[in-house]
Amino acid sequence: MKTSAPDQHDDLRDALRALCAEFPAEYHRKHGAAETYPEEFIDALTKAGWLAAMIPEEFGGSGLGLTEASIVMEEINRCGGNAGHCHGQMYNMGTLLRHGSDEQKARYLPKIASGDLRLQSMAVTEPTTGTDTTKLKTTAVRKGDRYVVNGQKVWISRVQHSDLMILLARTTPLADVQRKSEGLSVFLLELDQVIGKGMDVKPIPNMVGHETNELFFDDLEIPADTLIGEEGKGFRYILDGLNAERALIAAECIGDGYWFVDQASRYAGERQVFGRPIGQNQGIQFPIARAFAHVEAANLMRFEACRRFDAMEPSGAQANMAKLLAADASWEAGNACIQTFGGFGFAEEYDVERKFRETRLYQVAPISTNLILSYVAEHILGMPRSF
Ligand SMILES: Cc1cc2nc3c(=O)[nH]c(=O)nc-3n(C[C@H](O)[C@H](O)[C@H](O)COP(=O)(O)OP(=O)(O)OC[C@H]3O[C@@H](n4cnc5c(N)ncnc54)[C@H](O)[C@@H]3O)c2cc1C
Repeated sequence: MKTSAPDQHDDLRDALRALCAEFPAEYHRKHGAAETYPEEFIDALTKAGWLAAMIPEEFGGSGLGLTEASIVMEEINRCGGNAGHCHGQMYNMGTLLRHGSDEQKARYLPKIASGDLRLQSMAVTEPTTGTDTTKLKTTAVRKGDRYVVNGQKVWISRVQHSDLMILLARTTPLADVQRKSEGLSVFLLELDQVIGKGMDVKPIPNMVGHETNELFFDDLEIPADTLIGEEGKGFRYILDGLNAERALIAAECIGDGYWFVDQASRYAGERQVFGRPIGQNQGIQFPIARAFAHVEAANLMRFEACRRFDAMEPSGAQANMAKLLAADASWEAGNACIQTFGGFGFAEEYDVERKFRETRLYQVAPISTNLILSYVAEHILGMPRSF
């Protein structure tokens, strides 16, 4: 299916499609049903260097832009896989790259680029504060050459399949800062140094087989040099990475959207009911055509967000709108697809129900649709702040 978006990345897409073809639908279905991690697939992506796409060449990465990185994510989903198993590395790495010290970058980035280390996890969300991030309660208190961490996180992805994790914690009490976004700091933890040594991990079984966990910090001691950048500036560092994250998630949704449209239009042409293909009925055609139009429109916004990001132009508005439009479009395409498949849409063997569940996540995480609408209303349209 040729898309309308300007896209000169056929070679990149061909290479990814060749790799993805080694992991057919049955592979992803098996891991989806058993809720196990697709280790071999992620290994193959890592070895081929795709997860180091955005690491500069001086550190051993490919030095590609967000546009190319987003195509990696899109193709994984478009080929029937789920980039949610590995997308964290693409955007978490940016925090280290932009704000880490020279020593931290030299220590970690080459090993992340070669695949010897994975930086797949970022711990921000907390059970009692949720979206209200600046109120988070996990604290890191400086004691000599160490910080002592106490608190709890929830929904933290891929901890069992990562070597490193970014942690956001409060280093100055909320009552002592001028602005609530101040006093939060980012740390880069080596997971084998902390799991069972002050940080406990409890998996959360969930609807999408996305590996997520609760984390409990009980007087966890971490070296002071795990701090990234300046103490107290961590919230800004996390915000810095969000435009890339939004665009990458938009690309995954677009991959899902095209996958649903492909499946639905093919099945509608093949399935015979009342002596003719169901796709001959406009009641079947129109929802698929409408969903396709919306995926195409979201795709244009995604490429514009990536273009601006790569050109170092402001991209917040486009990245947020791309995520919103793409998540809505993939969900609409998922609905059209499952309806087209009728009862068979619910059978595991067609993968529609799995992809349907997987794409639903992006209405909620990593940022919910409401919060993007609130960003658009208040930051782009200048309406009064609601929180
Ligand atoms: C599978 C999965 C993986 C995840 N991975 C990670 C991870 O790796 N790291 C991490 O830190 N977090 C992760 N998260 C957490 C995710 O980012 C949050 O679930 C998400 O940001 C929403 O926060 P919440 O669940 O606390 O919802 P809440 O903040 O409790 O909000 C609940 C609902 O209310 C709405 N709402 C809240 N306030 C407002 C308002 N003022 N106006 C309008 N609507 C509002 C929200 O939009 C949402 O729909 C993951 C979540 C899931 C489900």
